[in-house]
Amino acid sequence: MVDCCSAPGLMPFAQALETMLGAITPITDVETIALKESLGRVLAVDIASPMNVPPHNNSAMDGYAFAQTSLATQEYLTLAGRSMAGQPFEGICKKGECIRIMTGAKLPEGCDTVEMQENCQANGESIRFLEKRKQSDHVRYAGEDIAKGRIVFAKGRRLSAIDIGVLASLGINDLQVFRKLTVALIATGDELKALGEPLGNGDIYESNSYALTGMLQNLNVDIIDFGVIEDDEEAIRQAFIEADKQADAVISSGGVSVGDADYTKMVLEQLGEISFWKIAMKPGKPFAFGKLPNSYFFGLPGNPVSAMVTADLLAMPALIKLQSCHAKPTTMLKAKSLSDLRKSPGRMDFQRGVLSQNSAGELIVDTTGSQGSGILTSIAFANCYIVLPSEQGRVNAGETVDVRLFDRFFS
Ligand code: AMP
Ligand code: MG
Repeated sequence: MVDCCSAPGLMPFAQALETMLGAITPITDVETIALKESLGRVLAVDIASPMNVPPHNNSAMDGYAFAQTSLATQEYLTLAGRSMAGQPFEGICKKGECIRIMTGAKLPEGCDTVEMQENCQANGESIRFLEKRKQSDHVRYAGEDIAKGRIVFAKGRRLSAIDIGVLASLGINDLQVFRKLTVALIATGDELKALGEPLGNGDIYESNSYALTGMLQNLNVDIIDFGVIEDDEEAIRQAFIEADKQADAVISSGGVSVGDADYTKMVLEQLGEISFWKIAMKPGKPFAFGKLPNSYFFGLPGNPVSAMVTADLLAMPALIKLQSCHAKPTTMLKAKSLSDLRKSPGRMDFQRGVLSQNSAGELIVDTTGSQGSGILTSIAFANCYIVLPSEQGRVNAGETVDVRLFDRFFS
């Protein structure tokens, strides 16, 4: 399948992404869930509005409702009743009359305009209007937010907090969504210790699974954490077999670079169709992708920055597609670099930066400092990638660079 690394040399980032997305078949299983449980879930059907929102013409202000023509020849109208939110005026407002009305209350029959109370003087039943109003002022029309029958949200949309509010305003409580994905996480490396364990000589704490878990929570998937697997052929085989049985996708980190214990590669090639790619990107050159019998496999590099950047730019888009979810477009901007940026031609750089505006209103970007692939704080304090094309060499301060805003996966 995804054989694109047979050619020597590095594969361009865009080609890697396209090849990988092309190899993914989205899930189709659907389940029905309650609206309150739907944050981050992916709609499996188009949602057509069963009603107008708002359902009736209503007032945008506390004040008085009337027919605008009533004020053409006079500035006083006679108070004929009240329309409160949830307790509408049931009669008809005649010419020369007005109705006391509250925000959100139904506009009475015969009325087409609302004046706010601050512009009125009440003297018993006689209401004086201090200003002229155009017809329709301060009126909210039935269906002006959502008209009955309109497709509000399309199949494939990931539901946000606001989407849930919109669906509630339509009276929709049961939703058809695609089932949740299960993702298995595996960390490989003899030097990795779980939090709480003492660090031996040369050990470090395993951290990739923590950051990856946080990123994956944005996709609302179920996560199975396999912890740390030692650099041992049989242990790796067992972990991959077990993970593949239980998950839709397996994400490992570490053990994909040249010089690593070759077990990972050997085991994966026995178990499935995995391609080991050298992608022309920095950070994150080594990356493995392919299919195990039951799941998709993503082999991230071990270095924390490389792992997170390849997860963000490659694995996350793939999982989003697997979820049957429409990807959101990324936001690219141009900004002036505040500092010199080291870069040698040959790979596309995703340096981490802080984008802001200077006092003249121009977009400026500053590097987060050392860009080493082990320096995770270079992502923690950043809000964007500074994207430098392959052929680009060093950047001088003051030059304009492409910036790609982080999406919410890192939050
Ligand atoms: P590897 O890709 O296995 O050669 O690992 C590259 C570097 O990343 C080494 O310094 C590893 O110690 C480190 N590393 C690998 N996996 C993890 C992990 N899960 N958490 C933190 N660091 C890791
Ligand atoms: Mg390793």
